[in-house]
Amino acid sequence: MRHRTPTLPPAAANTTTEDAMGPLIEAHQLHKTFGEITAVDGISLTVQRGEVLGFLGPNGAGKSTTMKMITGFLEPDSGWATICGHNIHEAPKLAKSMLGYVPEGAPSYSEMTTRAFLGFIAEIRGFRGEEIKKRICDAAEKTGLEPVLDQTIETLSKGYKRRVGVAQAILHDPPVLVMDEPTDGLDPNQKHHVRELIKAMAADKAIIISTHILEEVEAVCSRAVVINRGAIVADGTAEDLLRRIRHHGAVSIRVPTDRSDAALRLLMDAKFVAGVETLGSANGHLHIRALPRGAGLDPADVAALLHAQHIPIDELYIERGRLDDVFRQITTSDDQKRKTKGEGAANA
Ligand code: ATP
Repeated sequence: MRHRTPTLPPAAANTTTEDAMGPLIEAHQLHKTFGEITAVDGISLTVQRGEVLGFLGPNGAGKSTTMKMITGFLEPDSGWATICGHNIHEAPKLAKSMLGYVPEGAPSYSEMTTRAFLGFIAEIRGFRGEEIKKRICDAAEKTGLEPVLDQTIETLSKGYKRRVGVAQAILHDPPVLVMDEPTDGLDPNQKHHVRELIKAMAADKAIIISTHILEEVEAVCSRAVVINRGAIVADGTAEDLLRRIRHHGAVSIRVPTDRSDAALRLLMDAKFVAGVETLGSANGHLHIRALPRGAGLDPADVAALLHAQHIPIDELYIERGRLDDVFRQITTSDDQKRKTKGEGAANA
């Protein structure tokens, strides 16, 4: 088992306000092992105000463990995390007052009604009297919990339980939100509702959400971090990630099968095409993909090339690729690299 010297955290800030200049969330070289399992292996990241960071990764990648360390629910073996400049372990009260955390699963206190539970959280957050009622109303309205305010949490559907988790996190309107799969278990309408809520809150907060739903990244996240086996393997916008796909920006066309040989030859010889693939034929047409060379491929150039030889084009579009493909490509090639390295080491 590996032993590490705990890294010294940055000096606790001596202000009780948010640090407007620095990142609202910062994690530095977080490590966590459970016995023989290395759950998190040196994760560093920063999230600025206005950013929604999507945390992606296959099952067991270390997303929840990282979030628990950032929010102070789990102590790292080494490394540190700050919320608005306050170290979560050195100044937990201050850091947590600026943080809302939606843990995975349902809230505890299942025998309480939604109203009583939110009231209890509001009290812990330091609100009193009328302010508690106001906070409950506001959070319930934002998360659509009004119909179930007087129902006990144990009797709520999975989607409503999840929304109670979101409501307790936003009750004090914190500048930082960390949400572990906030839309898990919600139906499509509820998912849309929670995503809209996250987008509406995003401008003046720093938000991390973990998700398995890649469309969610495009819908709400300004940036995505992919983690695999406890380490960051990609960091960028959804568009940055899509660019990693080989056929991102390729031009797809369908041409009549009896002209497809001529079309393939033309495309293969074109200086702006790096390669040509056939993707199958149907209804008398062949589906062809032309891969871009260099900066990109203009579909107008492809159309002009074929039209000059009187080859009709049935359909033409630019391929963006799918985040699912990027995700699979990144996480499986990373696994493959580690495997090869391991084999190399074993053979050495
Ligand atoms: P999922 O997408 O399935 O929720 P995740 O990316 O959130 O996965 P973690 O829950 O952080 O992954 O788990 C990372 C690794 O650490 C896994 O191998 C998991 O089994 C292990 N692990 C997490 N918590 C504990 C614990 N309390 N005791 C032992 N092992 C743990």
